[in-house]
Amino acid sequence: MKLIVTFSRKTGKKPIIAQVVRDTGVLINVERAQIDSSEGEALIDIPDGSCNVVKQRLSELGASVRVLEDVISLDESRCVDCGACISICPQEVFSFDEDWKLVVNGDRCVLCGRCIEICPQRALSQKGEA
Ligand code: SF4
Ligand code: SF4
Repeated sequence: MKLIVTFSRKTGKKPIIAQVVRDTGVLINVERAQIDSSEGEALIDIPDGSCNVVKQRLSELGASVRVLEDVISLDESRCVDCGACISICPQEVFSFDEDWKLVVNGDRCVLCGRCIEICPQRALSQKGEA
């Protein structure tokens, strides 16, 4: 399960993800992180059964948490199965089926945005932002 964690750094520079790992014992895979002097945002992957305990501890530490599910949306009416997204995606989210139709496995997505930028048909979007 993937979560987007947003946290302020104004109250200090505590390593919030490391603290949650220590406090909960849950192994957290950080797939993407963007941190500046005032704020941080991280995309983390955790075991599904650990979601509640991790969310609770993150909230206690002042972070806001959003669950990501199947985040990349494909508009099949626009897609021409060119395969450009297959080439650019670092997570192997896209593949062709036996009929050379595009297949999307959104669970792997880390929201880097590359496929959205490269698609010549504008067939891909982040869910909720189409
Ligand atoms: S890049 Fe766009 S048009 Fe090409 S296969 Fe991917 S979604 Fe379809
Ligand atoms: S946003 Fe990045 S990781 Fe997600 S499907 Fe597109 S290229 Fe792959």
